[in-house]
Amino acid sequence: MDVQAQEVGKTDACPCGSGKAYEDCCEKSGITYGLFRFDARKVVFNVEEANRAVQDVLSFLCDEVSDPFKKGASLDVEDALGKLYNTFERFEKSLAPFSKASSCKKGCTACCHHIVETSPIEAEAVRRFVETRFDRSEKMALLARIDKHRHNYPKSLALDEEYEEGLRDAYFEKRVPCPFLSAEASCMVYASRPLVCRTYMVFSDPKQCMIGDGMAVYEADYIPEVHRASLFLSLLTFRDLRITRHLPDWLINEFRIIPI
Ligand code: SF4
Ligand SMILES: [Zn+2]
Repeated sequence: MDVQAQEVGKTDACPCGSGKAYEDCCEKSGITYGLFRFDARKVVFNVEEANRAVQDVLSFLCDEVSDPFKKGASLDVEDALGKLYNTFERFEKSLAPFSKASSCKKGCTACCHHIVETSPIEAEAVRRFVETRFDRSEKMALLARIDKHRHNYPKSLALDEEYEEGLRDAYFEKRVPCPFLSAEASCMVYASRPLVCRTYMVFSDPKQCMIGDGMAVYEADYIPEVHRASLFLSLLTFRDLRITRHLPDWLINEFRIIPI
C-alpha cells in the first residue's frame, strides 16, 4: 500500500494554529498545506517548502550528475563521493516532513534483513567509512560476519535490472542480518549508508515489517529518479562497473576491506 499526502480542506482548522478555518486564514496568504495521515499519526507540512526541497535535489542531480553523464564526462572518486554525500543531504531534507511521522525508528531492524541493492559509488563510500573508522579487530569481525553469510548473497545485477520480487522475499525469509547491523541494533555505517537505506519509510505497525507483508510504505514519485542519478554518478567514475550488488558482497569482491 502506498501512503500519499492530501491537501488540507478549506473548512479544516488552519494548521498555523490560529483557531480559524484554513479558508479564512493562511489560504488568503496563498499558503498551501499538505496533510499526511496514517492511523493515529498526522503530519501537516507546507506544500511550497516541500516542493522546493524536492526541486532542490532533482535540480542538483540534473545539473551535477545527469547532464555531465549525458555529455560523456568523467569524475574522479573524490568528486563523485562529494556529489553522493551532497545528494544524501538534499534527499533527506526532501523526505523530512514525512520521515518525522514514519514508524521507522532506531532499534527497528527489519529492513536491515533485506537485500541492500548498492551502486559502486555507494559501496566505495561505505568502504572508505570502514577503512577510516573501524579498527583492525572491528574490520576482522565485519569480514567474519560477511563470510558467515556470503553463501546466501544474491548474484550481482546489471545496472538497469532489479531483483525479482520472489528473490527479495526468499532472501528476507532467511533473516540474514546486514553485517553492519550492530548488537545494539544500530547501523555501524549510518553516515555513509546507501540510498536504499535512506529511502524506505513505513507508516504501518513495525510488526508488519518483521512479517514482511501488509506494510504501508511512502513512495514519492521522484525517488526512482534519485536512484537512477546515483547509478549515473557511479558510471561517471567506474565506467566499466555496470552492475549493482548486495552491499556486503561489494566489500569482498571489488571494494575490499583490508584489516590493517
Ligand atoms: S547499511 Fe545500515 S541501515 Fe543499511 S541495511 Fe545495513 S545496517 Fe541497515
Ligand atoms: Zn493559518
